Amino acid sequence: MELFNFCRELPKVELHAHLNGSLSKSTMLQLKRLNADSGVKDETNTFMDEFVMGAGDTRNLADCFQIFSIAHALTITPQALQIATILTLQEFQDDGCCYIELRSTPRDTPYMNKRQYIDAILEGIRNHDASNIISRLIISINRNMLQKESDEIADLAIEYFQKHPELVVGVELSGNPTVGDFQSFVPALTRARDAGLKIALHCGEICNPGEILEMINFKPDRLGHGICIHPKSGGTEETWQALCRSLIPVELCLTSNVNTKSVPGYDLHHFKEFYEAGIPIIINTDDKGVFATSLSQEYMLCAETFQLDKTQLARLAVGACQHVFDVKSRDTVKSKVLEFVNKHGLCL
Ligand SMILES: [Zn+2]
Repeated sequence: MELFNFCRELPKVELHAHLNGSLSKSTMLQLKRLNADSGVKDETNTFMDEFVMGAGDTRNLADCFQIFSIAHALTITPQALQIATILTLQEFQDDGCCYIELRSTPRDTPYMNKRQYIDAILEGIRNHDASNIISRLIISINRNMLQKESDEIADLAIEYFQKHPELVVGVELSGNPTVGDFQSFVPALTRARDAGLKIALHCGEICNPGEILEMINFKPDRLGHGICIHPKSGGTEETWQALCRSLIPVELCLTSNVNTKSVPGYDLHHFKEFYEAGIPIIINTDDKGVFATSLSQEYMLCAETFQLDKTQLARLAVGACQHVFDVKSRDTVKSKVLEFVNKHGLCL
């Protein structure tokens, strides 16, 4: 089987996908029509051309923030948010994704409060035909939040985890890495963890060894990106050794890192060092809409850049199953990948 088709058909798990950043152009156009039909004020008109891009186009950081703001403007009502969730899950499923943890920051809009925001995504997950994909939600705390708001989000996450433990699985910290101080989020994250939620932290997006060490010492269940950890990509010997000792699984997002120029090129991505050192890694999209990518494309890029064969790709897919936050789904997802592996006569 040709490598492209192999990457598509290989059952994959997506563990780092921001909902609003994952909206495809076609989803955005559908939401735009929906909002027009339901009389929602359209604030995106002037920006429409910005996200109409062809395949293979790349985006710079300014474009990316522009597209985020369009996506936010489009998911302003519960109905639009629910449809955005359903369409996005469908796209991941069509791309061979068999388990996904979508993440999103609950926000107040003129049409809904934070609770209704979470309800809308959960409704989307429930209403999506789940025959080929298991979908879960991670609730995001944004680094630009004041302590009061991050406490409020942690409380909501705990409340929804207790009400819907089958759907809400974790809390994560994300947002502009130059803003906010990790320590100020520790109380909220600790409460969420004590309540049974899993924790993921965006880590090392900029060179900040002190914070990276604090994050690793916090022992989250997963780290996101982990760019400035290895000395070759802006980290220190100390941050790298701390990660090697902790063996915390890291969610890697190649296209996102290259497009935002956090990493100078695919061949210089820290995937190589992490892979060779045996750090548990998971390949993800981050924002497939913003960066015009897909999960199978990320596997393909990894294979092409680092000369991985089908067996090595399948090992990555199997390994990722160990790190899904919904512990009860681990065996189900893993057996799905192994079934594919056996069917294709690969020996892991
Ligand atoms: Zn991210």
